[in-house]
Amino acid sequence: MTNLNERICIIGGGPAGISAAMYLQKKGYTNYEIYEKLNKVGGKSYSPKIKVNGEERSYETGAIMGAITYHAVHEVEEFGGTSHADGPNMRRMYRDSSGKEIFPFDIKKNFSIRKTLGLLKLKKQMKKLVEIMNTKYKGYDCYGHRGVAQGRYSGLDKSVDNALNLIEGENPNLKDLALPFDQFCKLNGVEEVMRIWIGPYTSFGYGYFDEIPAAYVMKYLDTTTAIEFVNMRLWTWKDGTQSIYVNANKKLLHPAHLNTEVVKVVRPAEGTEGKIRVTIKDADGERVEEFDKLIVTTPLDYFAGYADAREEEKELFSKIIHEKYVDFIARFDENAGPTISGYIFDNMTYDRLGHAMVYYHRWEDLKGNCPSVVYALRNHLGSKDVSYDYTIDTMMKDMELCGFPVKERMFEQETYYCPHVSSKDYADGWYDKLEAMQGKQGTYYAGEIISFGDMEDTCAASKDIVTRFF
Ligand SMILES: Cc1cc2nc3c(=O)[nH]c(=O)nc-3n(C[C@H](O)[C@H](O)[C@H](O)COP(=O)(O)OP(=O)(O)OC[C@H]3O[C@@H](n4cnc5c(N)ncnc54)[C@H](O)[C@@H]3O)c2cc1C
Repeated sequence: MTNLNERICIIGGGPAGISAAMYLQKKGYTNYEIYEKLNKVGGKSYSPKIKVNGEERSYETGAIMGAITYHAVHEVEEFGGTSHADGPNMRRMYRDSSGKEIFPFDIKKNFSIRKTLGLLKLKKQMKKLVEIMNTKYKGYDCYGHRGVAQGRYSGLDKSVDNALNLIEGENPNLKDLALPFDQFCKLNGVEEVMRIWIGPYTSFGYGYFDEIPAAYVMKYLDTTTAIEFVNMRLWTWKDGTQSIYVNANKKLLHPAHLNTEVVKVVRPAEGTEGKIRVTIKDADGERVEEFDKLIVTTPLDYFAGYADAREEEKELFSKIIHEKYVDFIARFDENAGPTISGYIFDNMTYDRLGHAMVYYHRWEDLKGNCPSVVYALRNHLGSKDVSYDYTIDTMMKDMELCGFPVKERMFEQETYYCPHVSSKDYADGWYDKLEAMQGKQGTYYAGEIISFGDMEDTCAASKDIVTRFF
């Protein structure tokens, strides 16, 4: 029975935590608290301000872009009064590993018969993929992974004309989505499409196609979103992605408690009544708060470390893999930086771990004076990680090769990125085991792992959980 007065603890004030609170509040729940260990909300949507030419503007160190398929994020935008209408454009160009400009998708530039035939093949396979995703893989296009390993789909719809409505059904072909994306493409005779998907997938830090189950790739980059990317119709936010969550947090009845870390969780034994005891640590020290329910939006593999995790939780969460994505904001000498974003395709393969894959130029009017964010991955399943220092050094050299020696690095960081499970664990029904645990001991699991590590899938996962369990 619904009890709108029950006390709910939300761990984490990132997109998942803020949107979970918003959806609870919209449903009439008023007794919730959000605990955020940092001094800001937004999590990996972090948009610090930097002064250039005497003017302060927002830059991005984490999430950057949205698309027409960002339905749940749009609900958070509307709630907080944020608009994406006036964000800067993100045009792009392409380079090879030596830093030279290339034109992989332009038939006229560096014309050759071979290139033309290659592009025609790509176009044909792209058309085929769109067709099979709508037919053979009908139902792939919802948020989350419930049932997929068993050939079912059940989740909020991502399609533009039925956004955020629950869809469910049977489709045995969906089991193919457990395959690594490269094998999935091979199985369906559409290997060429990886040339397109790799840009907004691997360079965005989400891993390599031989290690990531196709389910993650296709649920994030569904064919609509991929086509929006190709046509450069993605958008950004003027005050940064963080502003979406800062503004929404202000409209909450109970804004997030900042600088407040959850350090311990003790729940009543399974099947018994009682309160969940959450130890929080802030500037005043540690104290215990009591709750009826818990929504965990932070990494579940870490949750197992500070909570009274059951064996089944420890076992399941130990299977989570995450990417190690390194980035920094580069500053350049006067007028010596890029004037448009650059994608370095040669560096998006795992034999080039640690190399810069993309740099983002945000404000066109600042031309070569605009600080740009540079990104690299330093891990791949089955390869040895390259070191953090090597990665930074290599990224710096790559920027120099592109003609943009970096004068200063700001906000340098490595991120726990894109939590997921292997193809084997996916096929073994990892997500159905997680689903079976939802609600046990008053605990609900949300955040990136539930669907995919972008803002939209994360906010939609919060909506799904609030809709079904509260
Ligand atoms: C470089 C980069 C580029 C990206 N680009 C895009 C993009 O273009 N588009 C897009 O949609 N997404 C993008 N993303 C992904 C997006 O930012 C994430 O998927 C999203 O932020 C995940 O939200 P979350 O709330 O699940 O987790 P997080 O954002 O990680 O938030 C979790 C929060 O929990 C807090 N926390 C952790 N442990 C505790 C604890 N014990 N107690 C209290 N608080 C705790 C953390 O401080 C954090 O604030 C990008 C991310 C990065 C890093």
